[in-house]
Amino acid sequence: MMEKTFLEETTATLTAQRKELIDALAANNAAFRQLAGASGEIGDTVDEASGTVDRKMLETIGAKDMNRLQLIDSALARIRQGKYGLCMKCGKSIPEERLRALPHALLCIKCKSEDERRNR
Ligand SMILES: [Zn+2]
Repeated sequence: MMEKTFLEETTATLTAQRKELIDALAANNAAFRQLAGASGEIGDTVDEASGTVDRKMLETIGAKDMNRLQLIDSALARIRQGKYGLCMKCGKSIPEERLRALPHALLCIKCKSEDERRNR
């Protein structure tokens, strides 16, 4: 079980990173501003259950930033579900050290490197 304080810290970090990313995107991109709306909330466009991203959003802000935003959203969803810190693939605990370095990590190092090898 993850420590509650660690989860709270991570939630704060991820929320801040998410806001930063959205702010940066909005600053550089008028179309994104329009999509995000006045509130700056784009949560509805990312379906957490399926991980599907709105196609228009993807085209507008670019795959790299969207991917990062999606990872952050997924990590926040995992915290809410009480599954944060468990590898999405093998289900093993991800070391807290790794989570501190990379708060949006969803895979353990082993699965992550296997993943990268496959995609290469
Ligand atoms: Zn794993």
